[in-house]
Amino acid sequence: MYFGSVRFFKHFIIAIIILLICGLTVSTICLAVMNGNYRDQIAEIQSGIVLAQANPKEEEEPQNSLSIEYQALYPDLYAKPEKATKSVAGTVYLTFDDGPSGRTLEILDILKKENIKATFFIIGKEGEKEPEIMRRIVAEGHTLGIHTYSHVYTSVYDSVESYLEDFNRTYELIYEATGLKTEIFRFPGGSINKYNALFYEEIIAEMTRRGFTYYDWNSSNGDAASNATAASVYNNTIRSSEKKDRIILLMHDSAAKYYTVAALPGIIEYYKSRGMQFEALTNDVSPIAFNYINYE
Ligand SMILES: [Zn+2]
Repeated sequence: MYFGSVRFFKHFIIAIIILLICGLTVSTICLAVMNGNYRDQIAEIQSGIVLAQANPKEEEEPQNSLSIEYQALYPDLYAKPEKATKSVAGTVYLTFDDGPSGRTLEILDILKKENIKATFFIIGKEGEKEPEIMRRIVAEGHTLGIHTYSHVYTSVYDSVESYLEDFNRTYELIYEATGLKTEIFRFPGGSINKYNALFYEEIIAEMTRRGFTYYDWNSSNGDAASNATAASVYNNTIRSSEKKDRIILLMHDSAAKYYTVAALPGIIEYYKSRGMQFEALTNDVSPIAFNYINYE
């Protein structure tokens, strides 16, 4: 009887051992093949990394040569653009830059007495200290415009980005104090000056794209001069206003310029005697802006 005999068990054990050896061999070969595949994959990945490191630019998005990433900054910094075409002959726009100051209330009192509306292009860091004055300017029907936060030419005009940052800071603080979303502004030094000569077109384009309107001037009372007096301020106004029937007059609202306030009633009287009407600037008013080609 073969089954159950000692010989049968011998053969049975030998068969199992052979099967085990075969199984081990097959699985070793499989593992070796898989291992080889992984090695190939790892080698591919590693060579890819090396390639990517060697050519970092190849994988990146192509750069826009105009570098207009600043268009994406401050997504809430937009004004409702108007067609700024209102241009009424016989109109004068009194504008006061650099306030609020220790003189603003005196100016507001004169305007109130004369029943005249004007425009205040305020400096953010001054406005921040005087939210009540900003609220009074708005409450009495005058226009509050932006004249940057710091008014420091070198930092404001360092780049389009720094201009936007400074502008946005003022935009936000005016909104917080008055609830007003300002739509007009004036550049420190005017729209074209030696500090922004390299990229004024770019700043103007960006601010216009965002819907803001800027106003330069075509008449000045000359109160920025170090030797200004009430008489010089009055005379400069008349001299620079003659033969113009649509005037944006530049003046300054600052604590040291008492002569600007002293000359103001006479200046108002002068325009009234010419039959002119006084208006505050709004973003539907056709701007008076320096001509690009006039800059030297
Ligand atoms: Zn100024």
